[in-house]
Amino acid sequence: MKIQNYREDFPLLKEEIIYFDNACMTLKPMQVINKINEYYLKYPSCGNRSLHKLGKRVTEEVEKSRTTAKKFFNARKDEEIIFTRNTTEGINLISYCLKFNGNVIISDKEHNSNLVPWQKFNVIPISTKNGFNLDEFSETARKNKNSLISINHVSNLDGSENPIREIIKIAHENNCLVLIDAAQSAGHKKTDVRKLDIDFLVCSGHKMLGPTGTGILYGKKEHLEKLDNFMVGGETVLDSTYNDAKFEGLPYRFESGLQDYAGIIGLGEAITYLEKVGLDNINQHEIKLNALLTAEISNLNNISILGSKNPELRNGLFSFNIKNIEPHTISLLLDKNDIMTRSGMHCCHAWFNKNKINGSCRISLYFYNTEDEVKSAADEIKKIARLS
Ligand code: PMP
Repeated sequence: MKIQNYREDFPLLKEEIIYFDNACMTLKPMQVINKINEYYLKYPSCGNRSLHKLGKRVTEEVEKSRTTAKKFFNARKDEEIIFTRNTTEGINLISYCLKFNGNVIISDKEHNSNLVPWQKFNVIPISTKNGFNLDEFSETARKNKNSLISINHVSNLDGSENPIREIIKIAHENNCLVLIDAAQSAGHKKTDVRKLDIDFLVCSGHKMLGPTGTGILYGKKEHLEKLDNFMVGGETVLDSTYNDAKFEGLPYRFESGLQDYAGIIGLGEAITYLEKVGLDNINQHEIKLNALLTAEISNLNNISILGSKNPELRNGLFSFNIKNIEPHTISLLLDKNDIMTRSGMHCCHAWFNKNKINGSCRISLYFYNTEDEVKSAADEIKKIARLS
């Protein structure tokens, strides 16, 4: 992979910064920025309603993005792709609209977005102490048939990956539905919803080169059709009287009000870019950089890594602590050298509270990061470690 070629597409990478906060938000290539500008400059109009030429163009571009997303995830139909604002909205939509009063099985390492919306149900967390405990999960699913399993593919806390193929198989044998939180995987590894037989999947565009406040909810058509309405009013309605309304079909029933057209169109462009780079190349490159980083600093005796010691089991994430130094202090010291990381509990408070850890500093790598950047960051971390 010719990283330098790709780096040139990202204006911010021409500056003297090292951007290692990709799990929160990736940078955007010029192609995506140009596509957003194209919307505002050439057809800043409303999709699906206005019959004039500009409106027609918006509808076409939005549907082009939908088809791109459908192919990316290998969904069966365009209407199985619903545009949202982010992963959080996708999960909330399901938690409000699924006609369901069973239990919700999660892992003990979920983002608040995949925990708090479920707390109106009975939540059963499965241990991930030495990797996701499939035996415990099997037993729980057997005892709690007709549950919903809502689980991350890759954890934003330590980069660990859940065995979703096996989880989905066991879930379906027990008549459970599965929602995959793909926030940390969609822009990093190929996810074939059809092959994996995923019922619902959610992700955020801003974590996969797309514009902020964009996301995707995938659902099998037969499941989406059974969902209650979410937000209703603009767009979602075909006809109304003063006491009643007739609703649109999929996907428009869930895309209420005037949409973030620039964002949706930009997200389509981001997916096209990801396909050009190739998800396998992306994941391999991240693991290679993570192996280098791990080799550089894991043997310092006052540094502890969250998750596996093996970088291949942490994808592009290196979440760590330095004894006697607060995670926020580490991040601020790195920022003084223009190295951008994330510190805190990464919205996984429940896990940190259970394990009595007060947070971590997280480096999250992407395909445009380089070995030199990793080495510079490792040198700075070594200097900070000497302070402790
Ligand atoms: N789930 C996971 C695994 C995440 O990493 C994140 C974002 N850090 C979210 C959900 C929430 O994403 P968003 O804020 O884009 O809704």
